[in-house]
Amino acid sequence: MPQCKKRVAIIGAGAAGLIAAREAIHEGLQIVVYEGAEDVGGVWIYRSEVEDDLLGQSPHKRIYCSLYESLRTNLPRELMAFSDYPFDSRGGGKDEWPQFMTHHHVNQYLKNFAKNFGVYQHIQFQTKVVRVEKHENQKWLIQLDNGAIEIFDAVMVCNGHYSKPRIATVPGMEHFKGLLMHSHNYRRPKPFSGKRVVVLGAGASGEDISREIALQAKAVYWCAEAFNNLDESSKSTEWPEQRAGVAKIENATDVHLKDGSKIGDVDAFLFCTGYHYEFPFLADGIISVEDNWVHPLYLELIPPEHTNIAFIGLPHSVIPFPLFEMQSKWYLRRLSGRFEFPSMDTMSLSVAQQETTLREEGRPQRHYHKMGDEQFAYINLLATQCGANPLPDWFETLAHEAREKRNQYPHLYRDLPLKNTPKYHTKLSQLK
Ligand code: FAD
Repeated sequence: MPQCKKRVAIIGAGAAGLIAAREAIHEGLQIVVYEGAEDVGGVWIYRSEVEDDLLGQSPHKRIYCSLYESLRTNLPRELMAFSDYPFDSRGGGKDEWPQFMTHHHVNQYLKNFAKNFGVYQHIQFQTKVVRVEKHENQKWLIQLDNGAIEIFDAVMVCNGHYSKPRIATVPGMEHFKGLLMHSHNYRRPKPFSGKRVVVLGAGASGEDISREIALQAKAVYWCAEAFNNLDESSKSTEWPEQRAGVAKIENATDVHLKDGSKIGDVDAFLFCTGYHYEFPFLADGIISVEDNWVHPLYLELIPPEHTNIAFIGLPHSVIPFPLFEMQSKWYLRRLSGRFEFPSMDTMSLSVAQQETTLREEGRPQRHYHKMGDEQFAYINLLATQCGANPLPDWFETLAHEAREKRNQYPHLYRDLPLKNTPKYHTKLSQLK
């Protein structure tokens, strides 16, 4: 293992910060992990309380949690795990855990991971980073909410992007007289009992929550610009009615849709419209965030002009933990001198080309970090560059099967077997 004395600050002890810390320890780097909460886990720490502003736009106190009580993962545990630490008795879990786990299981796994790899001792809990700026000699100055100032050679930003709710602009919303909420503050279906509810957003939360509410509400209208290819025949009788995107609200209770139809007498409107990326601690001139697009970043990771800061976990519509792992390996192996980044000009050119491609595709900027099927090639590219093992052969096959099952049997898929589930033959010690 290469020895190196560089000092690295890691912001956040969620899944991304924990794997970054484990990889940094492995590379012989000195680390300090700063975590605002009182334990590891980030988004996987469940809290039943919600914010006073249910839309989450300007609450008096921000509640970090965006989980709902009944949440089970939408990925099987074999895909979710870090490569050498499965969610079973060979890693941080139990064999009897279900393949699609509850949020409690994931939380336990992350705690076990931190304990097992000696990460806890490097974490300063209840310590928020309030400022990150350039210091002399290319170092970084970090200021903490307790007033302390620390200097580092490199920074890894692992602050997550599922806590500041993003709401779509709906004309007339300010006159709506029913309950307005963002999924960030949804915990249980009870507040929607007996109500006529509009749920906006076709993502994973919109799907799960509209189905859960449908069991108790008078009627649920699940609205979106476009839906995944759900099989009509597989729907349960309680499946919410799928409708077009929302155009406006009128007369305090009428929701008009983009196909010209109207849903009248609406009692509650629930936004499942995602979250904002934000880096409130970061000095100007490092990156910009425009309509949820963080740029410029080479390979979604580093600003070409500031290669000693990395942003872990920005891509979405991905299988997060393995992606965080490879991004961390790539960045930290470079820091410890195992390989070289291309020149600044080459990286800048690559960033510009990527931007042109996305613009020509006609993608809205807010979807520039959406990776989908490109994630497999992306992870393997990072692996090739930094000399790590690529994804195992079964990974992509299982990912496709899991996604197809979910589209085909949206209300059942978590309890159905997946035929491409791997039987592990690799000894953990053989993994790089
Ligand atoms: P987080 O878990 O958000 O961690 C970031 C950490 O940084 C937090 O602990 C926070 O307190 C800390 N922090 C932030 N700012 C500062 C600061 N200034 N100073 C100090 N600390 C700071 N993924 C899956 O793989 N499977 C699923 O089934 C799945 N379901 C999901 C369901 C929901 C409702 C949501 C919201 C997400 C889901 N995800 C799922 C995605 C999930 O976000 C990722 O799995 C992953 O946990 C994100 O990890 P992270 O470390 O990037 O961010």
